[in-house]
Amino acid sequence: LFVTLEGSEGVGKSTQLRLLQSALASLGYDVLTTREPGGSPGAEDLRQLLLFGKNPLSLRAEILTHFAARADHLDQMIIPALDKGQIVICDRFTDSTMAYQGYGRAEGDPDVLDMISRLQSQLGRGPDMTFLLEVPRDIARLRLAARGAPVDRYEQSDEAFHARVSAGFREIARYNTGRIRRLNTDTQAEESLNSLIVKDILSHF
Ligand code: C5P
Repeated sequence: LFVTLEGSEGVGKSTQLRLLQSALASLGYDVLTTREPGGSPGAEDLRQLLLFGKNPLSLRAEILTHFAARADHLDQMIIPALDKGQIVICDRFTDSTMAYQGYGRAEGDPDVLDMISRLQSQLGRGPDMTFLLEVPRDIARLRLAARGAPVDRYEQSDEAFHARVSAGFREIARYNTGRIRRLNTDTQAEESLNSLIVKDILSHF
């Protein structure tokens, strides 16, 4: 089973990933948790380039680099794990490319959205289920400030960009209601949110 967590920065994806890993492992499931961009050694190299590279890439180059990283991640990590029967839980996947590059950077340009969905179909494998975590932007901003994490290229972007990304995620969820479940991480405790996700994952078997 291939599960992804999606959402903007500061929505609590990493916390949920950690809680999920231990909850499922304690139930006896063999779990691989991973992340994008990155997740395999070669794709982690590309992550450095994407997030901290000295020179900005053109939009198409950026999208193709995300997909190059994703192809390596799928081929070297995700598909082998799924073949072994592991549950794979990935922090971000193609929905993030749609949201950040498609809706954020390209402002929803239909040609760009189309390019991304074609590339995804060429990959031939995507998530079986996706949890989209959401909080109001001002709360996410406070969390990020408290974290004091190094700021990458995208986190530096302006508020309008982040607003487009969040709206993009909602739009993607609207087109994929069978696969994507939206969860507000602001109104419930981390643990109860986690049990909800675990229950949903287990109901998929
Ligand atoms: O998941 P995490 O927040 O660590 O993502 C790292 C950074 O990469 C974030 O700033 C995110 O906005 C950005 N990103 C992106 N486009 C993607 C995936 C991630 O801009 N397709």
